[in-house]
Amino acid sequence: MFKDERIWKLFQQLIEKKNGELNPKFDPTCEKLYRYPEAEEILNKPPLTTIYLIEDLARLGYLKKSFKGKLFLCPICNSDELKYETFCPKCGSAFVLKMKAIEHNCGYLGRLETFQDGKNFRCPKCLQELKIIEEDYKFYPAFYQCQDCEEYFKEPKEFWHCQKCGAKIEKENLKEIYLFSYQLNEEAISNLKSKALPKEKIVEFLKSQGYEVQEGVKIDGRSGAEHEIDILATKKSGPLEHRIVVGFAVAEEEVPAEEVIKLYAKAYDVNAADVILVALPKLSADALHFAKHYRIRVFEKEDLEKLEKIIEK
Ligand SMILES: [Zn+2]
Ligand SMILES: [Zn+2]
Ligand SMILES: [Zn+2]
Repeated sequence: MFKDERIWKLFQQLIEKKNGELNPKFDPTCEKLYRYPEAEEILNKPPLTTIYLIEDLARLGYLKKSFKGKLFLCPICNSDELKYETFCPKCGSAFVLKMKAIEHNCGYLGRLETFQDGKNFRCPKCLQELKIIEEDYKFYPAFYQCQDCEEYFKEPKEFWHCQKCGAKIEKENLKEIYLFSYQLNEEAISNLKSKALPKEKIVEFLKSQGYEVQEGVKIDGRSGAEHEIDILATKKSGPLEHRIVVGFAVAEEEVPAEEVIKLYAKAYDVNAADVILVALPKLSADALHFAKHYRIRVFEKEDLEKLEKIIEK
């Protein structure tokens, strides 16, 4: 399925990682302004290519995408160092104070304290006592007054002051970027695994041929060395035991000869009568030469498709 074994490595890493998540990192120097450094390292690809790859894997269902958060950035220099500031809509001064205010139905508006008259509240302009809220006066828990021109206003003008390039940006002009993290869709991965590394298929096939099958076993060879065998299949008939060793090798393009030699040495040491090598996607010319010489039966990607048909019959 995936020619690039680095993608497998990425999946593997996510399986092993505790939270199993690829997290974005803000980086104003790269094209999308965010990147996935861990994935870049495993895939050995630049930031943008990595993002496209991850997005493809998500589209194909192997990764799950979830919203991580958003960032507000300076539209001029892409910095995220923004400081919120308010200013007077009339004179532009930044010397604006927030206060509690009252607006009397005579039209006067002022800070709460100016209405206070002992225990009562009285309008400092028309001197009437305040009685019923919303009827003869309005109370504003947050109001603003410019300390330079004394103007009152419900909402100051606001802007975001870029600490890097000095730009003053209004809210609607802020640049927004959305960040997503990716998790492994384990179900999809395990389906994929059984397709790409068809261990189960081969186990099934050997069992159907009357073999007893062990997977991932460690056994001692005649030399005394311990070997790990991907699949060991044995069939007893009388005093005789027929042993098959099956090895798996995956490479980006071609499985090299050393894999064949290693497998042969192991199989010979454990006294196997037959050796099968599953080489994905295929063996190199050199490797094939060795395999023939050692009488190793080779299954490449194309052969596996044939094998699948045999089993289905
Ligand atoms: Zn002002
Ligand atoms: Zn009044
Ligand atoms: Zn800026």
